Amino acid sequence: MKGTVLHGAHDVRFEDREDPRIEKPTDAILRIAAACVCGSDLWPYRGIQKIDQPVPMGHEYCGVVEEVGRDVKNVKPGQFVIGSFFASDNTCPHCRLGYQSSCQHREFFGSAQAPFLRVPLADGTLVSTPGMPAENTVPSLLATSDVLGTGWFAADAAEVKPGKTVVVVGDGAVGLLAILAARQMGAERIIAMSRHETRQKLALGFGATEIVAERGDDGVARIRELTKGVGADSVLECVGTQESMMQAIQSTRPGGHVSYVGVPHGMSLNGEQLFFSHVHLHGGPAPVRRYLPNLIELVWTEQINPGKVFDLVLPLDRVAEGYRAMDERTAIKALLRP
Ligand SMILES: [Zn+2]
Repeated sequence: MKGTVLHGAHDVRFEDREDPRIEKPTDAILRIAAACVCGSDLWPYRGIQKIDQPVPMGHEYCGVVEEVGRDVKNVKPGQFVIGSFFASDNTCPHCRLGYQSSCQHREFFGSAQAPFLRVPLADGTLVSTPGMPAENTVPSLLATSDVLGTGWFAADAAEVKPGKTVVVVGDGAVGLLAILAARQMGAERIIAMSRHETRQKLALGFGATEIVAERGDDGVARIRELTKGVGADSVLECVGTQESMMQAIQSTRPGGHVSYVGVPHGMSLNGEQLFFSHVHLHGGPAPVRRYLPNLIELVWTEQINPGKVFDLVLPLDRVAEGYRAMDERTAIKALLRP
């Protein structure tokens, strides 16, 4: 088969790769229905995260089970399934407590921008849909695999609840779907921090009630103003930079909650500043597996439509265009079809 491989900064190729095969009895092989480019793929693409050798890419996927290893019991060939970017057994203590992305046996696997994918720990990792999805449901199901699951964790980790005032820092796909999650969890006010008109529109469509275009100290001042000097109850940091994290902490009221789900790059926290901010911090790689059954149900029953976040659809062999469009921010998120 051919698959997506990153060779260096701005050098994405769709090239010959070995067909994935069952390597362990707990593996499954999927025929990919749709995959996509993640905001976190842009760090190595831009050369900010160095790579020493060509790396296969892609960690968001959904598709049909093609083959399973002899120990796999929960999924069968022919089923449509979704999984998260970390394979997890879903039985160890961390998994049972809902932190599958810290599974004691977790395996990261990132080669989903391809027609076929090997999924380790298939029983713990994959969740099947009630049936074969309609074509137009596939983008929303794909979104549950990472970008929605991560936005959902952002809202959950920041304790978004009915009546609360929520701020979302970051208008990438995760930030936009964090707005959708906060809306589902009953937030009263959702303030989206975004400077881009098309993203602002999507933010409002997903449930934002206000937009703040300023960022950094000006953004913080604006949030203070909108909350009568108090700060927000829950602030969802969906970027991962020093500026966005400080913007999040400083926008939060004493006793409020900050979640952070963007992979940090060059971010460090000042202990004294943190001490006096009086905020709760909770974040990390989203335990998407915890939310998958519920998110699939919400999509399946058409209560949410997170697939709207894909504003570019490409055949898989044009994956390089997807990276370029997201890098240049002409697309929010590119969906890839084998
Ligand atoms: Zn586990």
